[in-house]
Amino acid sequence: MPTLFSLAEDIRKCTACPLWKGTTLAVPGDGPKDAKIMIVGEAPGEEEDRHGLPFVGRSGKFLDKMLGMAGLDRKNIFITNTVKHRPPKNRAPKVSEIKACKELWLDKQIEILRPTLIIILGGVALKTLTKETSVEKAHGTVLKKEKQQYFVTFHPSAALRFPETKKKMEDDFRKLKKITQKI
Ligand code: SF4
Repeated sequence: MPTLFSLAEDIRKCTACPLWKGTTLAVPGDGPKDAKIMIVGEAPGEEEDRHGLPFVGRSGKFLDKMLGMAGLDRKNIFITNTVKHRPPKNRAPKVSEIKACKELWLDKQIEILRPTLIIILGGVALKTLTKETSVEKAHGTVLKKEKQQYFVTFHPSAALRFPETKKKMEDDFRKLKKITQKI
């Protein structure tokens, strides 16, 4: 059985889809190997590509603030994305890229970590992990699929663009506080 560490080493060498071309660093994920909570976003951005770490730019700062509202600290959470290399010009990852990366890496990360709760950030992660398509409908709720619990909310970059989404996301993380107190 691989470890999160050995998986990260393999992810850094992966060329299974075209996304690795033109990137600086892969972004396998970051967090403790015994994390009870996992966060899955969409894809690395420019800052993430430069540092090889997830959510280190503006979106990351906002995510840290949201986690603080829920009484959570990212030091205790394993954070990753549906794809591990930055799509060119921050375009959305293609279905084929997400499929390749999920089957090779994300599914294995979840299998190794066995998190009590996965926080889904945005529509791409929602569809990838649950096949649900509407963040508007599912946000602020816990979904259960094949024994895994998911908490759904918006992607931080959407919250930074739209004040209404930001407010909804803040409400979601207040709800998350109550949910995580029980796990
Ligand atoms: S995005 Fe995922 S599948 Fe594609 S090259 Fe990177 S690690 Fe491999």
